[in-house]
Parts: sequence; C-alpha cells; structure tokens
Amino acid sequence: MKEQITEPNNSTIPERKHFIQEIIEEDLRNAKNNGRVHTRFPPEPNGYLHIGHAKSICLNFGLAKQYNGKCNLRFDDTNPTKEEQEYVDSIKKDVRWLGFDWEEREFFASDYFHQLYDWAIQLIKAGKAFVCDLSGEEVRKHRGTLTEPGKESPYRNRSIEENLDLFERMKKGEFPDGSRTLRAKIDMNHPNLNMRDPVMYRILHAEHHRTGNEWCIYPMYDWAHGESDSIEGITHSICTLEFEDHRPLYNWYVEQLGIHHPQQIEFARLNLTYTVMSKRKLLQLVEENIVNGWDDPRMPTISGLRRRGYTPEAIRSFADKVGVAKRDNMIDVALLEFSLREDLNKKAARMMAVLRPLKVVITNYPDGQVEELEAVNNPEDPAMGMRTVPFSKVLYIEQDDFKEVPPPKYFRLTPGAEVRLRYAYIIKCTNVVKDANGNITEVHCTYDPETKSGSAQSHRKVKGTIHWVSAEHAVDAEVRLYDRLFTEENPNGDNWKELINPNSLEALSGCKVERSLATVKPQERFQFERLGYFCVDDDSTPENLVFNRAVTLRDTWAKIEKNQ
Ligand code: ATP
Ligand code: MG
Repeated sequence: MKEQITEPNNSTIPERKHFIQEIIEEDLRNAKNNGRVHTRFPPEPNGYLHIGHAKSICLNFGLAKQYNGKCNLRFDDTNPTKEEQEYVDSIKKDVRWLGFDWEEREFFASDYFHQLYDWAIQLIKAGKAFVCDLSGEEVRKHRGTLTEPGKESPYRNRSIEENLDLFERMKKGEFPDGSRTLRAKIDMNHPNLNMRDPVMYRILHAEHHRTGNEWCIYPMYDWAHGESDSIEGITHSICTLEFEDHRPLYNWYVEQLGIHHPQQIEFARLNLTYTVMSKRKLLQLVEENIVNGWDDPRMPTISGLRRRGYTPEAIRSFADKVGVAKRDNMIDVALLEFSLREDLNKKAARMMAVLRPLKVVITNYPDGQVEELEAVNNPEDPAMGMRTVPFSKVLYIEQDDFKEVPPPKYFRLTPGAEVRLRYAYIIKCTNVVKDANGNITEVHCTYDPETKSGSAQSHRKVKGTIHWVSAEHAVDAEVRLYDRLFTEENPNGDNWKELINPNSLEALSGCKVERSLATVKPQERFQFERLGYFCVDDDSTPENLVFNRAVTLRDTWAKIEKNQ
C-alpha cells in the first residue's frame, strides 16, 4: 500500500500525486482561471448515494480543500419523472455525514431552467438549433452507427423564425409529449455520435419536484450539465469515464454560447467486488424487498454503510487508498473492510457479548456472590479507561466454546480441561447436563480462586481464553450478522439477481451482552471480543437492543498484502 501521511484532522492523503492533482497544479502554475480551483459534486436526485459516489465526493471536496478552492453541491435534476425530494434530503445528509461542507453553495440545475431556455433561443437565432418533428424512434434511426453516417432530419433547415415560433409553442404546452424536440445543429456525419444533432429539449408534461408545473419542456442532461458547470464558474469538472465521449459536445455548447469553459476531467468509476453499484439495480433491490430499504446494512449505499457501523473516517480513508484511476477496475471489498477495522481498532470499546449462549455453572463459587472485575476498555487507547464486569455463579459462554468431544487443536472448554475466562478466573469443566434428547443444557465447572485476573497465579499457562457474561447481569439483545449480498465477485451480468446470496442476513435473538451495553444508543460502535465490530442499529431501544455486525475481526486484506 502507498505510504500515508496523516493530517491533524484525521483524514489521510496519499503521498504521491494522482493525475488530477497534477493537472490542477499545472493550471495553478499557469495562473489559469486566475488561480481558482472550483469543483462540484453533481448527483441526480434519483436514488440514494453509494460508495462510488463517496469516492467522487471525497475527490471533489478533497481537491477543493487541498487547493484552497470551493466545491459546490449541485443536484442535476433534469428528469422530473425519476426525481424526488426524499433523494435530495438523503444526499445532503450523506455528504454532510461524510464530513464535507458545501456552505451556501447548494444549487439545482432546475434553478437554471430560464437561463438554459434563453441560451437555447440564442442558439436558434444563430442557426445552431432547430425544432425537429421526428419521433424519438425516428431520431434514433437517423442517427446512424459508429460505422455509418447519420441522416439529416427533414426539419433541419427550417427558418429561424419558424424555429423560434415552434420552440415558444413547445414551451407553452401546445404539443403533446414526444411530438417535437429541439436539437442542436452540428454534424450528422460526425464520428462521435453525441455530435449528430443531439436533442436539447423534449416535451414532457410532468410535474417537477422543484419547479412544479411551470415547465412542460425539459432540458436533456447533456444540455444542462456543462452549462450548469459554466454558470457556477466550475474550473475542473470531474466526472466518470462514460462522459469522455460527451466532452466534445459540452465544449461545443459553451463555445457556441461564448460562456465560461470548465475543463472536464474523467476518471474511472469505483467498482467493488460482491456488490452492484448501479442506482437502477439498487432501486430494484429496494422495490422488490430483496433488502429492507436503501439503508439496509447489506447495501453499498452510504446510508447502508452508516447503519452497518461504518465511520466517515473509514470511508474517507478507503477513498484515499483506492486512489484515482484512468481505467476501469474492480476494488476488493476486503479493502473497505480493512479501512473500517483500522479505524474502529483505535476507537471502539471492547465489550463481551455471547451470541449463542450456553449456560455454565461454577459449582464451587458461593451462591449469591458477585464480584466486580476490572476490564480494559481499549488496549489501543489507555485514555478510554477501565470498566468493571460482574462475575457470579452462573455464566453464559458461546456454544462454540465448548465441545464434549474436542476436535484436534481445540483449546477452548472441554471435559476435564482448563480454560481462562477473560478478566476473570481459570475454570475447569467437571461434567455436562443434558436434556432428554441428549442436547447439552448446562456445563458444570469449578473455578480456581487463586487465578483471579491480575494475580500471580492468573498467569498460569492455559491454552485458551474465552469470553463470557454473568447470566444474572447480562442484557438480552438481537444481533444481526451479515454476509456479502452476492455470491460472486462480479455480479454484473444479466443474471445478477440469481447471484443474490440467500444467507446474507442471520438474525440471532436471545443473545446476551454485558451490563455496560444496557444503555447504548443507535450508531454507537463496539468491538465484541473475539466476534468483530458491532454497531447499535437505528431501531435499537433500551428495551429491545439490536446490534449489527459491521465487520469481523479476521483481516483478509492484511493477509493479501502480506502474501504479495
Ligand atoms: P445515473 O445512472 O443515475 O446517472 P450515477 O451513478 O452516474 O447514476 P449520478 O447521480 O449522476 O449517478 O452521480 C453523481 C456523481 O457521482 C457523478 O459525477 C458521477 O460521475 C459520480 N459517480 C457515480 N458513480 C460513481 C462511481 N461508481 N465511482 C465514482 N464516481 C461515481
Ligand atoms: Mg450520472
């Protein structure tokens, strides 16, 4: 991995410059844009943001910060049928949660609808745009292909007066949806299909989430995006690779209009293994109830990751680690998980929780006695201090931590063998109690009072240490364990829905967590010793505690790194 330097504010910047930083520094050296750096993050409010958007947010806001510039938040809301206020609100919440501030610069492409309309008229008057009566289907047929030139529309040579009249009547609502379009007059033989008289406006009698019923013609994304950047004085318009072929069109528009010319720079989309990132597919997962909403902890959405237990710091650090690529690639989700462990290892208090409880009775421990034993909250951070955990005669341990017939190299509790209880004593199993079906219901042990944690005898050599909770003091909880949402690394084929992992959620009820967790609040994060990092679910209440496992303790990424 690249060397990281840590800023005082905790975000890390890779030491080597990426190609966009190099472009910006070159521009600064040449005093281009009078030394200004102004970026923007331009989501379409048609879904919740995902980890790929987080990459783009970190990049745009990060560059602005690094070069003393500004970054706008702009909603590219040109498609009234798919956009909603709910998405606008969620996007704002997510960007803020990630730690970025657009200050007063919150914009909407729909704020520019009047300006765009005036500019369209300017192009018509310059003979650079015309009203076309071909249907969508006919426009497509006329466009040609990569190997064949396109065919000019029979309406291409309408007079300027007729175009102005028809365009105004389009705006007034005189024509039905889809009956006419306004198209730029560029070149039907252009090798780039985006330059073959692209549509600028379509007729759509639809209510817009911000402009209501004011408009029945809506600008195409390509006609709004570059102009919006220009209006906002964006210097570096950073977008993903699929817009590379649109750049000549964006350039053509701003040149024809003679307005500020932002520089577009493309980088590769972030793709992650074992998940999908298309908003269309994520919407399908939500609408078909395959997951429980946009913020389901299995989703790659920012709200899902937050609910799962991800921190903004972990996501920002991940975004730095993946860098900025020029070619499409696929990032191992293990790197995202590694970033979270790295962050929570420093921050999360260690706690004891038993997910699948098995009752242990310490037969030689006095009835009714309770000892408060000292436990370290975080060995990585002494400032997090100590707490006490109650110890008593009846405990719970994990079912997995006892085997009547131990497999080879099993160092946990077995008949006749000793094991150390974390922060407590060494115990020895004397016998087991079974029900009529032969299932173990209790394990009976004796404890060695000389081996209390911290005493000289406590260091006696015993192979295993296990966690536990005191039955009388433990609190019930539901714990949700998550696995990958898809069974294959790259579930992006047509059959993607067949690759959904049917076992991606395991909800365990009747878990027993230590007393200190009784009053936790949503979004608090802990390490449950030996089990992973957990986050209190948004629906958790003191009466009904719910924890989500954010990530296990096993660190496959560190292993991958080591083996390379
Ligand atoms: P749509 O298909 O709806 O356009 P989109 O993923 O492109 O989906 P936008 O809302 O247009 O969504 O994206 C906002 C910004 O985030 C754009 O600048 C886009 O390039 C960037 N972005 C989207 N997906 C990724 C990704 N996977 N990696 C990096 N940047 C992304
Ligand atoms: Mg997009």
